[in-house]
Amino acid sequence: MTLESWIPLVTIGGTRCTVRLALALATVALAGCHRSPSGSGIPAGVRYVPRAEWGARPPVLPMRAHVPVRITIHHTGVAQDPRRSVESKLIGLQTFSQRDDSLASGRKKPAWADVPYHYYVAVDGAVAEGREWRFVGDSNTPYDPTGHLLIVVEGNFERDTLSSAQRKTLDILVPSQARRFRIPEAALGAHRDYAQTSCPGRALYAELPRLRGLIPSVATQGNQR
Ligand SMILES: [Zn+2]
Repeated sequence: MTLESWIPLVTIGGTRCTVRLALALATVALAGCHRSPSGSGIPAGVRYVPRAEWGARPPVLPMRAHVPVRITIHHTGVAQDPRRSVESKLIGLQTFSQRDDSLASGRKKPAWADVPYHYYVAVDGAVAEGREWRFVGDSNTPYDPTGHLLIVVEGNFERDTLSSAQRKTLDILVPSQARRFRIPEAALGAHRDYAQTSCPGRALYAELPRLRGLIPSVATQGNQR
């Protein structure tokens, strides 16, 4: 089927403008080809769940804008749960994030504007959109996450190990985000590199050298954002 075969003949002001309409539609179609469907920057091959799909509420406080210059890995610190949907996990995380609450350590946390992380990697390998990457995230610990693209991985990696689906997703997500924001391999780190915490747990921290090796040295060339 050619493009023209489904374009209706249109008459405007007595002049047939089928060709012009066809060209306009073709331009739109081509422009669409250069973007991922949602403009997410998440490559094909990874199941992506944007905010609208998991039912995110709007942020409840003002947020500061930033541009990511490093990628920082976290874990959720709670056991992986393959029976619960990623949508439900994100709703729970957002509800917890947006209210004053107590942490597992008993310390209080203030209400945050939104989910503290930019991407959430569920045990089944799906990636959910957290806080929009354009805004600085939040942390339970005193370090300034300005410029950090925060990726949280479901699990407590002091005890758990990455599921094969999580490993496959990280192997795609981390290099693609490095390329997208021109982040060099040396700027891939973990929460514990910046604050006194065991996050993201031993098993996940041990993956970092391998993940750095997947970041192409051309990450600093060509911005695909
Ligand atoms: Zn952390």
